[in-house]
Amino acid sequence: MNTDKLVGDLLHAHGLRKTQIRVEIIQQFMESDFGLRASEIINSLKANHDRVTVYRALNSFEENGIIHKASEDANGVKYALCGNECSSDHHEDTHAHFVCDECQNTFCLDDVKIPQPKVSDELTVNQVTFTINGICKECKA
Ligand SMILES: [Zn+2]
Ligand SMILES: [Zn+2]
Ligand SMILES: [Zn+2]
Repeated sequence: MNTDKLVGDLLHAHGLRKTQIRVEIIQQFMESDFGLRASEIINSLKANHDRVTVYRALNSFEENGIIHKASEDANGVKYALCGNECSSDHHEDTHAHFVCDECQNTFCLDDVKIPQPKVSDELTVNQVTFTINGICKECKA
């Protein structure tokens, strides 16, 4: 599959210019079954890139509805690709995430929708997170 074209279209749809580093990062997400940390992405990039460039790309992806935070721990945030319904205006990732206690891999549970709690009008909700910890299929086997 020509993912280069696919990634170019994705960037374009979210109002971002196509650059080599952006394409490489998104390809990593497409090839991974679980959430990725910035440090993991930096380690598997083909060419050497400035860390700051990678962090900046991840921030712009999150702001533009391409990736979302899947989990967060002492070692940092793990991101996952968004579905088609996310846009530059807002994210629609109202699903739970599963974090394996053994391998630490994080998965999107797209089918497990989380309720959006009602809060006082004085508060603005940006994101509701729901994390399930346990043992994944691979570690159980
Ligand atoms: Zn999203
Ligand atoms: Zn596991
Ligand atoms: Zn997710």
